[in-house]
Amino acid sequence: MRDLMVNTTKKYNPDHAYLDEWEVVATAEIKHGTVVDDEEGGYEQKITATLTNLNNEAAVERAIQDTYRRGCSCEWDCCGCPTGGAREFVWVTPGRVVKFTVSYRPNY
Ligand SMILES: [Zn+2]
Repeated sequence: MRDLMVNTTKKYNPDHAYLDEWEVVATAEIKHGTVVDDEEGGYEQKITATLTNLNNEAAVERAIQDTYRRGCSCEWDCCGCPTGGAREFVWVTPGRVVKFTVSYRPNY
């Protein structure tokens, strides 16, 4: 089980977002699918989150987006930090089970 949290302050870029304030909106069991590489050096992965109880879908999607967002915080030349996040939310069971895809691309 893992807490799904919304970033309530968003003062920092994704690399330092642990310094922001986070608020738990739901608890879920997370199942990760196979990592699939794409031809541009990135990858994507399908993930299923099964919530422990009924939840507000918009709040859960926001928490998932905040949790899986990644970006670059290099001050000078970036050598390709993975950049991206969660998208394509499909609610299999309303308010309870959601499938989504995370995808990341190197930031050249
Ligand atoms: Zn970078």
